[in-house]
Amino acid sequence: MNPDKIIKEELLATLTGLRWSLLSLRYGGIADWPHMAGLETMPAKGPSHIGQPATEHENSVDGEKVLSSIQQDLGDCTRCRLHRTRTRIVFGEGSVGASIVFVGEGPGFEEDQQGRPFVGRAGKLLDKMIRALGLAREQVYICNMVKCRPPDNRTPNSDEIEVCSPFLVKQIEAIRPQVICALGACSAQNLLHSTSPISRLRGKIHHWRGIPLVATFHPAYLLRNPAQKSAAWHDLVELLRIVSG
Ligand code: SF4
Repeated sequence: MNPDKIIKEELLATLTGLRWSLLSLRYGGIADWPHMAGLETMPAKGPSHIGQPATEHENSVDGEKVLSSIQQDLGDCTRCRLHRTRTRIVFGEGSVGASIVFVGEGPGFEEDQQGRPFVGRAGKLLDKMIRALGLAREQVYICNMVKCRPPDNRTPNSDEIEVCSPFLVKQIEAIRPQVICALGACSAQNLLHSTSPISRLRGKIHHWRGIPLVATFHPAYLLRNPAQKSAAWHDLVELLRIVSG
């Protein structure tokens, strides 16, 4: 290989490694210096293929049609009591060719107002986490266990999840991501049919219908407990390992 090309590739690899180390410090809550703010938008060499359509996702037009037909089936849903207090249904959004699907608990106030998932304060943190993976929000898919906001942001009841989850199952099956990231205990426990706390469910790779699943803390919990960002960072690294595999 051309010596100049080798030096250039080694330099790029070193810079990429440095970027990941600095991001790890930042998201680990160890450092939050103003001059690190540009890191998330810094071009990353590493997992450059992540979020780009994989071979099995080349039929994204069909995938879009499937998602749109699921949304049509859902319609102006009144299947559970949550419809009474919602403003808008939050179906989910992102790329049908996404390598990663993030699944949260349910819409909050901002999401209910806008009809979009993770657009409040917790959503801003999720955006940062996604950027730390070297991805744009549009390259992943984001949705929730239930599509209507539970009153006072309470945890959705099991009967509400049971009625709503067939639509989530269809969405994930339409996307068939390389990995699912369950955000928070409600999502992780229901997807995995487990009663274990999130602290026990995170830190290992599970499977949902043959798709690897990584559980991590909900961004809203991380806002209240920044010391856990370090653990969440390790979960993100695990996500990267799977999609880079
Ligand atoms: Fe329908 Fe799901 Fe909303 Fe319940 S939470 S009303 S099942 S869309």
